Amino acid sequence: MMQLYNSATRKKEEFKTHTPGHVEMYTCGPTVYHFAHIGNLRSYIMEDVLEKTLRYTGYDVNRVMNITDVGHLTSDADEGEDKMLKGAKRENKSVMDIAKFYTDAFFSDCEKLNIKTPDVVQPATGLIDDFIHMVEGLIAKDFAYFAGGNVYFDTSKLDRYYVFNDHNEEDLAVGVREGVEEDTNKRNKNDFVLWFTKSKFEDQALKWDSPWGVGYPGWHIECSGISLKYNGEYLDLHCGGIDNAFPHHTNEIAQTESFVGHEWCKQWFHVHHLNTTGGKMSKSKGEFLTVSLLEEKGYDPLVYRMFCLQSHYRKGLVFSWENLDNAVGTFNKLIGRIANLKPGDDVDQAVFDELKAKFVAALENDLNTAQAMTAVYDVLKAKTTDATKLAVLADYDYVLSLDLLAKAEAKRQENAKAAAAKTGGGYTIVGEGDPAIDALVMQRYEAKKAKNFAEADRIRDELKAQGIEIIDVAGGAQWKKI
Ligand SMILES: [Zn+2]
Repeated sequence: MMQLYNSATRKKEEFKTHTPGHVEMYTCGPTVYHFAHIGNLRSYIMEDVLEKTLRYTGYDVNRVMNITDVGHLTSDADEGEDKMLKGAKRENKSVMDIAKFYTDAFFSDCEKLNIKTPDVVQPATGLIDDFIHMVEGLIAKDFAYFAGGNVYFDTSKLDRYYVFNDHNEEDLAVGVREGVEEDTNKRNKNDFVLWFTKSKFEDQALKWDSPWGVGYPGWHIECSGISLKYNGEYLDLHCGGIDNAFPHHTNEIAQTESFVGHEWCKQWFHVHHLNTTGGKMSKSKGEFLTVSLLEEKGYDPLVYRMFCLQSHYRKGLVFSWENLDNAVGTFNKLIGRIANLKPGDDVDQAVFDELKAKFVAALENDLNTAQAMTAVYDVLKAKTTDATKLAVLADYDYVLSLDLLAKAEAKRQENAKAAAAKTGGGYTIVGEGDPAIDALVMQRYEAKKAKNFAEADRIRDELKAQGIEIIDVAGGAQWKKI
């Protein structure tokens, strides 16, 4: 049984779902005003591992994610400029163009990191009517009020507002933060905006008609609205970065439970920060670390995925180029060892089951991916056939998604190619690792040596017909596919 830490109860608990065997899962998606940095992507990697673990252990999963393309201000607590508008100004593009560009960039990064696309991906701008309906419902139930042009959620109506943060309210109150002007329309310091018609930034690009005037939704309402539409009223698992816990997730709980009138989501999964040696990673501080930057520097994005898997999601992880270089070494060695295994059919089912159980036990222990990676080495060390080991590793890789077998196969071919650069009577053939072609090239050499030029030409033509080009070089020949 899956044991998972629940941020709402601050305990490791047995994972339970509203409908047995089925998981309704929601993930807070990106605000598409800039590239995701690899710290953001750590969360998506770990959420991907969680989703795949649930599927791997037999659950049927419906995973929903939003794309924030409106309403997210530069502070998570309703203050500052709209992030989308800021991105559009920066790049001199329209908000819609910015949204499209960075949504595509996000999914391209995900693909490179082998992160599966959720079953439902919903941009916030596509569901405005649902958010309006929800805000109307909250006003009707007296959980929300209209003041100074905006609709606010009234946090004083709740018995317990600080689900994720039972600290001193004064520390958390928006109004007392340095440099943030207090919104005098708010009845309580932590009330938050459900619908804006008045903002300090009048040039908001995207606006819609509403019962309260032309405006746009607050950020928090979008996740509640999208989840209610696609996950239903009972959500089993809500995920996000630890940054989202307060105020974003706290506000989601407040408005959703007030709207539906019962408990909404029991299980909350939060991934901790990726830090640099200089502190918490952010877009404004230090080098802007993106997947593209990793690639430019010659790193395989999957090495970063493995780097994340090597540590626990509830611990801060320190990124440095040196740490990533260590991961490269580990990854290459691992692939090299798998490449040395000989494929075959003699899979020992009993050993397979035993090794699989070890892997599942690691993942079911609060998603202990570091332990799951150790299980990979246990497979390599196991006293069983190579075919069994390869079958187990292929099975593990459904969750790990490191392309272990494909990379090992590429490595095997590379090894074969190197081995094919062998000498025959002082004649060296360098090819692409196909012994049949090597043999033909060698026959051509033998024919030429015997002055049988007709036969040598015939072999050259035969190879050409197969799309192979031979280049004669000093002391041998090179061939390549053209
Ligand atoms: Zn959210």
